[in-house]
Amino acid sequence: MKTSNYANQVLVEKVVEKIFHVSFGMNEGMLPRCGEPCPRCKCPCIKAFDHISGSDNRHDTFHQPSGLVGCHWDKTLELSESSCVEDVLNNKLMIVYENGEDKIYPYKDFDKVFTTWELPSIKQPLPLREYLFAHCQDYLAVKYELQISSSVPAKYYSHDLDEIDRQLNRILGIQFDEIFMSR
Ligand SMILES: [Zn+2]
Ligand SMILES: [Zn+2]
Repeated sequence: MKTSNYANQVLVEKVVEKIFHVSFGMNEGMLPRCGEPCPRCKCPCIKAFDHISGSDNRHDTFHQPSGLVGCHWDKTLELSESSCVEDVLNNKLMIVYENGEDKIYPYKDFDKVFTTWELPSIKQPLPLREYLFAHCQDYLAVKYELQISSSVPAKYYSHDLDEIDRQLNRILGIQFDEIFMSR
């Protein structure tokens, strides 16, 4: 298995679109999940299919690099490499479109702004999503008409390729080599 920056754009698009709708664990024989997308990074809620979001049972998920769904930094227009969990920890601000205008809130008020969601806190490595974010910068920048990230964490590039291959295979039934081919 070789790595290169060349990615099959049609398959990349298929993977990026598909993983939005796949809850973590859904293809691993676990129970059906709620699937409500995070209001920021769009990662689906991982709670049980029939859970009702209330004050003691809010939606929650593992959050992904939010640039995968077009979130970006306000000043540079670069795709965001961080997840909602990291944005809470790093005390970042978010712009939320409400009642016809943009409002600015700290990420640490996430659960006050989005009252059916838990404050993002679950840390779970998402190697496939991080790997796709790192290797599909050009595709994502064109798709969302934004700039590529100048701060992709090195760890996003260094994930175990066998694990990536297994995840691709579980989700789409395709192999790593079909997407990331050498020229
Ligand atoms: Zn999120
Ligand atoms: Zn939920």
